[in-house]
Amino acid sequence: MKQIIQNQLQHLQNPDNDSAAIWKGAVICKSAGICKSVCKVSVKALLLFAATLLISSVAMQAGEAKKAEAASKEAEKKAPNKKDPSIPAKRLFGFVLGPADMKAKSIGYFTRGCLAGGEPLAVDGPAWQAMRLSRNRNWGHPKLISYLEKFAKAVKEKDGWPGILVGDLSQPRGGPMLTGHRSHQIGIDADVWLNPMPDRRLSYKEREETSAISMLDRSRLKVNPRVWTDQHVKVIRRAASYPEVARVLVHPAIKKALCIASGDDKDWLYKIRPWYGHHYHMHIRLKCQNKGCKDQPAPPRAHGCDKQLDYWFALLKRTPKPPCHYGSLQRKGKSWRCECPKSLKRVAIGKKGGAKCVNEDGTLPKPKVVRKNLAWMPKACHTVLDKGAPPLWKARNLDETIEQPIRKAIADKVVAKDEIGDLIEENIEPEKK
Ligand SMILES: [Zn+2]
Repeated sequence: MKQIIQNQLQHLQNPDNDSAAIWKGAVICKSAGICKSVCKVSVKALLLFAATLLISSVAMQAGEAKKAEAASKEAEKKAPNKKDPSIPAKRLFGFVLGPADMKAKSIGYFTRGCLAGGEPLAVDGPAWQAMRLSRNRNWGHPKLISYLEKFAKAVKEKDGWPGILVGDLSQPRGGPMLTGHRSHQIGIDADVWLNPMPDRRLSYKEREETSAISMLDRSRLKVNPRVWTDQHVKVIRRAASYPEVARVLVHPAIKKALCIASGDDKDWLYKIRPWYGHHYHMHIRLKCQNKGCKDQPAPPRAHGCDKQLDYWFALLKRTPKPPCHYGSLQRKGKSWRCECPKSLKRVAIGKKGGAKCVNEDGTLPKPKVVRKNLAWMPKACHTVLDKGAPPLWKARNLDETIEQPIRKAIADKVVAKDEIGDLIEENIEPEKK
């Protein structure tokens, strides 16, 4: 708890983190229903008041103000240093809580880029609810936000679908993330769950804990008729139907089910691309919406229900490679083994030759330079990181029951990130999607 307050304090005090503070201020105004003009003036006053409150609560908890001050300085030291080449870019981008006050722009590529002028998807809408709010990943290019809004309304009005549950979009300034995706970096990717929205508003806790439902049966090679419906076909087809959508990624078994359901009407299927995972959600990717954003080649205009699917099913039946962190994966006969450099100790993970390589004392090795640091990012993303946040941010539809836990969770996460320190690269396939 002390740590959380220190971090909150640090965000409120550190001018570099103005974005976070002001964004929070705007959230407070919005949820209190204060009108915009009054809000603009009162954000700073409110922040001062909040900072004072926090300071006094720390002082009360610690017993004396001095301790609180020392603690907040300590926390300040922990803020990741942009110039340090051993700090991965995902830590820098994961640390910023608000958007960059710039014209909306996707910069770079899905797997190596960032987002200027990010806009949040409202937590609730007439036909959608945003999930996993503590991740603070409901940000995107304004075109992605307006796409999701119209898509959600359309499935509700036309496809007999009660509404959509929206998973991760991007971080407020895009960029790489500490956990999960390699893509989703430039604000034009969105995960939409494949189970329908319930007919009531989910609580913050439910949005954190409710699981998405897999569409596959036990074989993991077929959709499960008990959960897969004709509506799913309509909803996925609608997602792909908009001209701004470049592709929709789904599990190969789902693509197969769509191929079967489509009969002779297969033209629309070219945008539906098979990919690993994606049986709990579909991944919608828009085309680039501005210059400076690098598009992926458009998918070929073929439905892909034949050879392409055969290829994917062959891949699915292959045994997966085991994880190997800080080591090199080598073939041993029919299986794999993760070999560690001599200076590191091997700790097995899983049963099939996977391992992580650690120091003698069990800690993870700390490289002096990491490959994916800020220098690895496009130049324009350095500016995105440095910019302040807009004076008033529209965090729409947030009320106290949602806003308070989001703020707490984000503060918790900032602490957690400090403790993560070093990062195990996710053992996922290179992105060709
Ligand atoms: Zn995704």
